[in-house]
Amino acid sequence: MNNKKGTELPPSAVDVLVVGNGPVGATIAALLGRYGVKTLVLDKVHEVVLMPRAIALDNEALRILQLAGLSEDAFEKIVIPEVKMHSPVLGQFSRANTAGCIDGHPKLVTFYQPDLEHAMRNQVCGLKSVTSLGGFELEHLVEESDAVVAFVRDQDGRLHSVRARYLVGADGASSRVRALIGQEFEGQTYAEDWLIVDARNRHQSAIDHVEFICDPRRPTPHMPAPGGRERWEFMLRPGESREELESPESIARLIASWIDPQELEVERKAVYRFHARCCNSFSKGRVFLAGDAAHITPPFVGQGLVAGLRDGANLAWKLAWVLRSQAAPSILDTYDIERRPHAQAMIDLAKFMGRLVMPRNKIVAFFIHGLMRLLALAPATRKYFEQLDIKPKNIFKNGLFVRHQRGDKLVRGSLFPQAWVRNTQQQIQLSDDALGHSLSLVGFGVNPLSLLSAAEVFSWIKMGGHFLQIGPCGQRADSACDFIEDLNHGLLPLAAKGTLVAIRPDRIIMHHAPGTEAGRLVRDCLILMGSVDSTADNLSITINEPPRLRA
Ligand SMILES: Cc1cc2nc3c(=O)[nH]c(=O)nc-3n(C[C@H](O)[C@H](O)[C@H](O)COP(=O)(O)OP(=O)(O)OC[C@H]3O[C@@H](n4cnc5c(N)ncnc54)[C@H](O)[C@@H]3O)c2cc1C
Repeated sequence: MNNKKGTELPPSAVDVLVVGNGPVGATIAALLGRYGVKTLVLDKVHEVVLMPRAIALDNEALRILQLAGLSEDAFEKIVIPEVKMHSPVLGQFSRANTAGCIDGHPKLVTFYQPDLEHAMRNQVCGLKSVTSLGGFELEHLVEESDAVVAFVRDQDGRLHSVRARYLVGADGASSRVRALIGQEFEGQTYAEDWLIVDARNRHQSAIDHVEFICDPRRPTPHMPAPGGRERWEFMLRPGESREELESPESIARLIASWIDPQELEVERKAVYRFHARCCNSFSKGRVFLAGDAAHITPPFVGQGLVAGLRDGANLAWKLAWVLRSQAAPSILDTYDIERRPHAQAMIDLAKFMGRLVMPRNKIVAFFIHGLMRLLALAPATRKYFEQLDIKPKNIFKNGLFVRHQRGDKLVRGSLFPQAWVRNTQQQIQLSDDALGHSLSLVGFGVNPLSLLSAAEVFSWIKMGGHFLQIGPCGQRADSACDFIEDLNHGLLPLAAKGTLVAIRPDRIIMHHAPGTEAGRLVRDCLILMGSVDSTADNLSITINEPPRLRA
């Protein structure tokens, strides 16, 4: 196991303490480690959770795992080409097309959560600045003016204190951190229980897509997973007990409509009651909540862990930049401002899907599913569901970026697209790997360094920035600036030649401007990051409309 066992004690002082080494906590630790932050990640247990939980991830989640350093083959995945919705009366009434890739990753994959968690813990083990320990349970927190002191109990009952500049509570749905900072977990708990069954199919004959059997008598999502696995989620009927439905005979009866139960070995099973809850704030003082500690959703759109990974990507670099004095602590306020609305929107989508999957009775089911079928006849509404336009876009309304202007293809406050590129060492890679772990100033067909004064270049570097030029496939670098070729012409059409784009380490577009306004762009970013004072003496640019943090 990667989570170190035995006698090692937690360090008494760190920059960031991450409580909870689940998939979200481990990913945050990996990101902080890549940014060089002295981090301690603690968990009350040593092993990863083996209960059947997350099974699906989208392209954004896979991109964040890439950002955290996981290679493509770090854990097994099955690419899912479509999601089908069936009604017992109307047949297939809706479909989502999940074939293809976005930003270099498949739109939808299934995976085995313990494999991902082991891979992420392995990744963390290789990072010098991160210590990962199991067997320490957080009990109490004391916030001081310049630190948080956490009291953690080891498995022999001894109490240890850890002083951290910042603390991240990634300690799951029953978060102790959330309780200690007095955050309410607003929302609802569903009345229904669901039996989750993960089975291994000995003959590898699982379906290749995800299907939702929207039968009001027993709604059942069903999907394949790596390792010859299949998952079924059966809603319990009123009057059915957990014990009764979890019995081998009952599971055999339930899956008999798909496959001879003799051909399957039930690997894991659990009964859950789903929740749709979100905190009023994802932070208080020096303490931040991430993952299930901050929000939980019914799994109908497979977005619980994905949302937690988005939290991690958003928060980790901001902490690193503040700790390295490359940004003002006020940027940390934008974590809640940016992340909470999107997490809530995903919960709302899952609730909507829940109403589709489990209508209350046959009449309501007939009406809803019939309506969906009718909507699928019109191209616009079909596209809305089939091409996943219904999924809330990860575009911030407010936060750490300069206000968006209508008509621009590159939307500030949204993810910068990813494409295949070739670097000057002739390596073909995804563009995020060329961006690295800095704040990037990217020139579209132009060397950004050629547009800036020495003082501006210095300011950008001092703020944790680097420079990159994108050129068309076949062009060679003609300057000292880092250079990549846009192999499939996936990036250059996004902006006019000569445009500069400021990209945050989490790949969110912070700003863009024509090269003629390069100095102003740098200055705007310095102001956003609260770094302007350190450079003011060197700058000779006048600002007419200073941007502000949009809150
Ligand atoms: C049936 C089901 C299906 C799902 N399907 C999907 C899906 O397809 N896609 C998706 O994206 N999501 C899905 N989810 C959600 C997903 O599993 C969770 O969002 C994800 O596991 C949460 O990760 P986490 O790291 O935030 O929390 P957890 O995985 O719960 O980790 C929290 C960690 O904190 C530790 N801890 C707790 N308290 C303390 C303490 N006081 N001190 C120290 N350590 C502590 C725990 O031991 C644990 O290791 C599903 C969930 C369920 C139940």
